[in-house]
Amino acid sequence: MAKRDDERLERIRTELAALAVEGSLPGSLVVRTLRCGRRNCACHQDPLKLHGPYVQWSYSYRGKRVARWLTAEQADRLRAQVERGRRIKELTAELDAAEIRRVERAEGWGT
Ligand SMILES: [Zn+2]
Repeated sequence: MAKRDDERLERIRTELAALAVEGSLPGSLVVRTLRCGRRNCACHQDPLKLHGPYVQWSYSYRGKRVARWLTAEQADRLRAQVERGRRIKELTAELDAAEIRRVERAEGWGT
């Protein structure tokens, strides 16, 4: 079990380092369609004629939720960074679990 945990830790650390080097962003990208402010526009009659799709990047910073509309070019450019940010969060949670198991074992507290 110890060897498997060590290998797992090594794999997580290696992947985290690579992601950090490539660059990441927090938050998520969401695709939205919108109804505009002109009452006689087709978007008010037909859900299939809503405007968009538009891509929105949203994230939390210092306790505040921020949302930014992206151009298609920005969405293309930032998508990979946001995906790396999401992967970093997953790996950080895995890292916490693996490190807890390692320390619990090393210090003779756990199983
Ligand atoms: Zn409209």
